[in-house]
Amino acid sequence: MIHKLIIIGSGPAGYTAALYAARANLKPLMIDGGVGRGQEMLGAGGQLMITTEVENYPGFEHGIQGKDLMHDMRKQVLRFGTEIIEDIVTKVDMSERPFKVWVEDDLYQARALIIATGASAKWIGIPEERPVWEGGLGGAGISACATCDGFFFKNKEIGVVGGGDTAMEEAIYLTNHASKVYLIHRRDTLRASKIMQERAFKNPKIEFIWNAAVERVHDPESKRVTGVTLRDTVTSETRDLAIQGLFVAIGHKPNTDLFKGQLDLDENGYIATNHDVRTSRYAVFACGDVQDHEYRQAITAAGSGCMAAIQTERLLESEGDTDILETPTEW
Ligand code: NAP
Repeated sequence: MIHKLIIIGSGPAGYTAALYAARANLKPLMIDGGVGRGQEMLGAGGQLMITTEVENYPGFEHGIQGKDLMHDMRKQVLRFGTEIIEDIVTKVDMSERPFKVWVEDDLYQARALIIATGASAKWIGIPEERPVWEGGLGGAGISACATCDGFFFKNKEIGVVGGGDTAMEEAIYLTNHASKVYLIHRRDTLRASKIMQERAFKNPKIEFIWNAAVERVHDPESKRVTGVTLRDTVTSETRDLAIQGLFVAIGHKPNTDLFKGQLDLDENGYIATNHDVRTSRYAVFACGDVQDHEYRQAITAAGSGCMAAIQTERLLESEGDTDILETPTEW
């Protein structure tokens, strides 16, 4: 069987693409990324599954839990007839149409693809980063998204880990909310661009802590952040710092390993797109964080998922009901 459309991934981008595609009668097949794979390899629902309160997704006056938002999106796409396979794509062949997508030995084929595999925040690797429902403090004081969670730290003292542009940007943004931001970096020089460094240095609310690694976050038992233990990366001495929130800002990794060598990626490994959601290969679209390292919001991901579905529908409609599937190199 050759499907009209396979959607790979199931965050806000994938679900929105499925919603529009299903309502346009494309009968999309979604392969959702599996369930419960922890933080390094995000499962179905993507990054919002490890987010607690979401207050900036329009339509929810009092906010909504990230998990609930994703569950509702899933129910909505199922209502319109999206078929969902709860698993992880293991191989893709885009060299000709129909495109081939494997889940282990099972082969699925489609005339068009929408890639919505997202990006994963990089984590330091300490146990407290696990979600709060797994005994950690993730989503309960430890976050990887200042825009999402900064608001909860009004007039609090918090830490930001990292020394690149993301860390500078997050720290500067967080000074709009927090009373003090400790920028914790493992070396004594920053990787960030000069302009971002200068902005951070000039900000009176930011204090730099050099040569420091976060060894432990206190206090999972009380389900809130009360401080961190820092280890000096030169002397190995440790000390405690009282803070009420910790933002890990050491970068993101786009989930693009499957597509290397088949699609053009940008210098940071994100899928390169033109016309917003078209990839370098005809009839393959990408939406959400896998092609966006700038905005990274649920609402922008959802918007680009909608665009990918509309473009897919137009492309398939223009081809009509034919077995001859063209693959022009320019589009
Ligand atoms: P990045 O440049 O790779 O920086 C990551 C930072 O995190 C580095 O300082 C690194 O330390 C630190 N780090 C990595 N792993 C760590 C760990 N396990 N524990 C503690 N610290 C760790 O990543 P990024 O800041 O996300 O930037 C990625 C790209 O996006 C860059 O090209 C950047 O310019 C761009 N970007 C631009 C903007 C902007 O222009 N406004 C904003 C965000 C990102 P070391 O320095 O010791 O390696």
